[in-house]
Amino acid sequence: MKSDSKRQTVSIIHYEKPIDSVRKVVDLSHGLNHLPANAKVFIKPNIVFWSRFGTFPAFGVITTSRILEDMVILLKERGVEKILIGEGITLSDRKDRETPAHAFETLGYNRMKQKYGVEAFDLFERPYEKVTFGDGTTLNFATDFLKADFLINLPVLKTHAQTMVSLGIKNVKGTLDINSRKKCHSADPEKDLHYMVSKLQEAAPPGFTLIDGIYSNERGPAFDGKIRRENLLIGSRDMLSADKVGARVLGYDPSEVPHLVHAARDMARPIDLSDTEVLGEKIETVASKHRHDFPYTPDESRALPVAMKRMGVQGLSYRKYDLSMCTYCSSLNGILLTAISQAWEGKPWDDVEVLTGKMMKPTPGKKKTILVGKCMYQANKNNPHINELFAVKGCPPTTTQVVKAFNDAGIAIRPDIFEAKDQFPALFMKKYEGKPEFDINLFRVK
Ligand code: SF4
Repeated sequence: MKSDSKRQTVSIIHYEKPIDSVRKVVDLSHGLNHLPANAKVFIKPNIVFWSRFGTFPAFGVITTSRILEDMVILLKERGVEKILIGEGITLSDRKDRETPAHAFETLGYNRMKQKYGVEAFDLFERPYEKVTFGDGTTLNFATDFLKADFLINLPVLKTHAQTMVSLGIKNVKGTLDINSRKKCHSADPEKDLHYMVSKLQEAAPPGFTLIDGIYSNERGPAFDGKIRRENLLIGSRDMLSADKVGARVLGYDPSEVPHLVHAARDMARPIDLSDTEVLGEKIETVASKHRHDFPYTPDESRALPVAMKRMGVQGLSYRKYDLSMCTYCSSLNGILLTAISQAWEGKPWDDVEVLTGKMMKPTPGKKKTILVGKCMYQANKNNPHINELFAVKGCPPTTTQVVKAFNDAGIAIRPDIFEAKDQFPALFMKKYEGKPEFDINLFRVK
């Protein structure tokens, strides 16, 4: 997406109340000044995950319906007739259509259909088209997104364990089909996740990015991160500029964020804010450090998450996730670590190494090696450094496969933890009980 002005405007304002706050951030950045007459507008919220069981802890994970509805109101005021809301939620079962329908209903998207005549689509039920970039890379994007005249991009102000920040450019990943999402987590060091994510903005129609910072997420992007009520809105017609400012607000210089560096280079733009005018609140007064990383011990051959090391776990090496582990294996990874922690009874396991993603190589001399996921199995199934192999061949791996492989390797993880995974999000809601700043009504439409 190329911008039409050399100096980009980004506005930062404090969220105070419905409609007025979004109007302010839009007006200050002239966000809708270039909205074409009779435009077909595509709105991309960020839903990420959803569970149909209990109340979902949406804070810092999902775009507030409040901000989404306020944007729809501003578009309607400008006479926009055709407004599409589209999202492709990450699901463990790709045939599951009930979960997205439940999310859209709960978040009020169906109510917005009645109130404003918008259309809301589960993108996995819609067509996709191949886009070929200048370097020959291809990705399949939702046609509704590609063919829109104007994009309203509504990411959440959050960090991400792999991409450091997940803002406007990263939010576009939700318009890809499943194979293209997996492809973004390439094992090719030249075209790694950072590189692939940087390409996403090239396919985007012109538009307006509004980073929803009513809540922010440290160690995001999921509901297990540390959520803060920040009450910030960051808006710009230029996606890269919005992200550069968003990164600063999260405590990162844009030059530290590899996908922003790639994107700036591709557009022949500076990675600093020398081409950006920030209006409204000053970055320095609203910025705070948000950690993105989950700490692991440094020695690869005996690696463990720091929390597991503190528990005294022995006889297991579980290396830190790398960029090649895609979202589907990532969602399994957190539960698997919980299951392993619960299986620890103080007796060292039998020198077991667990490998994930697409790039890891076995450590010579380990007694047992568990390869998690089809990618890892294909990469290492014939590796001569593996003494005893336990394979989890699925893509994404199934609970049964994971439990069997670990049990066979002598780690007695329990299947019920995986079976209860849909209940996990609701358990997190307890953290927010009795705290009025965590207002679930921001995720509803009346
Ligand atoms: S095996 Fe895992 S990392 Fe590989 S594509 Fe499948 S879900 Fe993604």
